[in-house]
Amino acid sequence: MQPTAHLFPRNAQKALADKTLQAALGRATGRFLHHRAEAVAAFPGFGEARERASEIKRQTLAQLDHHLGRFIEEASRRGAVVHVARDAAQAREIAARVAKEEGVTLAVKSKSMASEEISFNVALQEAGIEVVESDLGEYIIQLAGEAPSHIIAPAVHKTREEISRLFERKLGEPPTDSIPALVAMARRHLRAKFLGAGMGVSGANFLVADTGSVVLVTNEGNGRMGTVLPRVHLAVAGIEKVIPRMSDLPTFLRLLPRSASGQPLSSYVSVLTGTRREGDAEGPEKMHILLLDCGRSAILEGKYREVLKCIRCGACLNSCPVYQSVGGHAYGWVYSGPIGAVLTPLLVGLPEAAPLPDASTLCGACGEVCPVKIPLPDFLLELRADMRSQGLKTPGEIAGMKGYAGVMKRAGLLEALERVAGLLAQFFTKGKPVEGLPYPFSGWTERRDFPAAAAQPFRKLWKTRRGVQG
Ligand code: SF4
Repeated sequence: MQPTAHLFPRNAQKALADKTLQAALGRATGRFLHHRAEAVAAFPGFGEARERASEIKRQTLAQLDHHLGRFIEEASRRGAVVHVARDAAQAREIAARVAKEEGVTLAVKSKSMASEEISFNVALQEAGIEVVESDLGEYIIQLAGEAPSHIIAPAVHKTREEISRLFERKLGEPPTDSIPALVAMARRHLRAKFLGAGMGVSGANFLVADTGSVVLVTNEGNGRMGTVLPRVHLAVAGIEKVIPRMSDLPTFLRLLPRSASGQPLSSYVSVLTGTRREGDAEGPEKMHILLLDCGRSAILEGKYREVLKCIRCGACLNSCPVYQSVGGHAYGWVYSGPIGAVLTPLLVGLPEAAPLPDASTLCGACGEVCPVKIPLPDFLLELRADMRSQGLKTPGEIAGMKGYAGVMKRAGLLEALERVAGLLAQFFTKGKPVEGLPYPFSGWTERRDFPAAAAQPFRKLWKTRRGVQG
């Protein structure tokens, strides 16, 4: 997928003007947040599991080569063929070669953000192989010719009315506003594809080193069906998905569904270990695992290593006021929200994605909800500093921040300016909120009022209440 992250400001403007998108985003992120909060409150061990998961990931990343080596050895021993791709081009070449050598003409695919990174579908289609997305959300956006807009809910930006119109146009189905009816339509069309597919393609939530297993955590049966029905299974995953032991898995299974959709456990947890053995009722004859480096080794060596702890739960997206307002497409690549604002510049290059680290209010909500304790707000700040050192900030921004820092470092000057600003605000606004500020501050009041200035600045009030002389 070609990144267009450099167009974030333009994309965000467009998204803010889209009323249908705003309604869909508000409903979906609100629901996710509510369910997550309930699930976390009902599980007193959440904090402990969070600490443990963070530590497992941290230790694993410190010895990733060792754990990856073990995973490859164990998976190979159980009949899987493991491929490692240095970059997206090599990954596409491997994926197309595997499919062709296995004689595949139709592949069913479940949701995989890693495969989006390498434009997997395009690679197979160029090799003459049909790829059908089997996750409902992915199926919808494939029909619409769009990219996913959320890590766990790819079609979160679409309303049921839009989906009904899409099914009418692309599948010849009658219009309906019933969600079960829409699901039944998709199921009917997909069932034939499952039965005819020569290869099932999946991502991986976890790769377990000591058993060589690929673990899928899903809410739809498509992942399981696509990995056991077709003759060949191809799993595509980033190298950071490895965890050392099967005994580590329960910790992550406690955190992932609660953080993602607010469920205590996902509907399906599939542990796929090697090819079908004699006597097995189901399972693929051939299993290929495509491991993606695609920039991860470079991240591993640097100061942003901990971003590789991400388990793609989507909680940081739902809690982010910027994501809530503009949705996933505005971020211009596979990953959106706070994780996208950090990961995209690291994977595609900071100059290509320069606006993203600024696409945050730094409210800290993303860091608070992250189940593996990635310091997202710190990384966003660090990336802003990198932008400055790489010459990606405008002279106006640099001068503005220098002026701001100069004032903030001098308490006396800050208080004097607060007094002047308070007097001016009182004089011009008479204590009322401001509805429209002049340029260059007009953007601030485009969608909300500027709050009324207090009669006394906070610092003065604080001192008075504590009995300190100002
Ligand atoms: S950064 Fe944390 S909260 Fe965001 S998707 Fe990854 S694991 Fe979830």
